[in-house]
Amino acid sequence: MKLLEYQGKHLFERYGISIPRGRVVNSEEEIKDIPLPCVIKAQVTIGGRGKAGGIKEARSEEEARKVATDLLGKRLKGIPVRKLLVEEKVEIEREIYLSFSIDTSKRAYLLMASSLGGVDIESIPDEKIMKEWINPLIGLQPFNVRRVVERLNVTNRKEIYDIISGMYRIFRDYDCELVEINPLALTREEKLVALDSKIIVNDDALFRHPDLVEEDESIDPIEREAKQKGIAFVRLDGNIGVIANGAGLTMATLDALKNYGGDAGVFLDLGGTDDVEKVKQAFQLMKKAKPKVILLNLFGGITKCDTVAKGVELVISEEGIECPIVARIKGVNEREAREILKKAGIEAVESLQEAAMLATEFAKR
Ligand code: GDP
Ligand code: MN
Repeated sequence: MKLLEYQGKHLFERYGISIPRGRVVNSEEEIKDIPLPCVIKAQVTIGGRGKAGGIKEARSEEEARKVATDLLGKRLKGIPVRKLLVEEKVEIEREIYLSFSIDTSKRAYLLMASSLGGVDIESIPDEKIMKEWINPLIGLQPFNVRRVVERLNVTNRKEIYDIISGMYRIFRDYDCELVEINPLALTREEKLVALDSKIIVNDDALFRHPDLVEEDESIDPIEREAKQKGIAFVRLDGNIGVIANGAGLTMATLDALKNYGGDAGVFLDLGGTDDVEKVKQAFQLMKKAKPKVILLNLFGGITKCDTVAKGVELVISEEGIECPIVARIKGVNEREAREILKKAGIEAVESLQEAAMLATEFAKR
């Protein structure tokens, strides 16, 4: 899970890393008593916000409100901007790059640092980036940090030493895959301030950090509901809703659609369930996602075809359905499943090709 900049900065603050004074706002009306001049930053979990127009400056409250109105209506690389971080503008003397990540090929943590931080970090030659590998069984040692600090060429050695140590503690405490500060600004007053934060927490460790999941607003509400119900539900860019059982069949279904020019907008993997109630819940979630057409692709095994058909039929008879459904049914109890679906007005086809073609046609209408 990627944390938003302000969430990462809250962690920085708790771990003794300086951040600019600032506040999160959800609307332009909340902009009052702000530090001026200020920097207004879109809170979205994409990289390169600066270059994408998600970071603006303002010298007056009026200007800040105008910028906020503009940013809050925008999408950055497709993602709607819902929150802004309004911060005092820091006068930057130099920009430093710092990060902790995991180098799986070396089975070690990797501390990277560069005195050429800033927005163009990707284009910095490799030899300008210091790398220090850390044995995860021993943990970060003072010499690791000292080696990096010595070569960073800053006078505030103690301060940067503490920042690196603090980042490492966050990295460990929160089961992170990445903790990055870019830029860490060296200000005119020779202070070190984290101007940006990028933190990725290992999804498989999220159960240990319920505090983070709670405030995660980047998850689509339907996806969150699915997560709570233990249903694998993923949003994509297209308009076809795919329900299949098992990851392999689900992927094959997406491929088959692509082959005919169709694009899935959401997919739902029933996995191995033989519970009508669970199928109902899954199908209700799919309805909420409002696809143009639903493609139901089943290969009955542990998940019996008639169980799924029953779940689908129940939802349709109880609440109706607005979009067409194309079904392809094979495997255990397929005949029973066809009968049940027929009652709900759904004619199942036999081949995946045929089903994918039909669904694509419906989606284009
Ligand atoms: P990113 O583009 O998503 O990585 O967003 P950043 O938060 O790193 O901001 C991009 C750039 O905007 C930084 O490298 C800075 O040069 C500039 N910037 C961000 N905050 C401030 C600030 O408080 N003062 C100044 N002068 N520049 C800032
Ligand atoms: Mn940045």
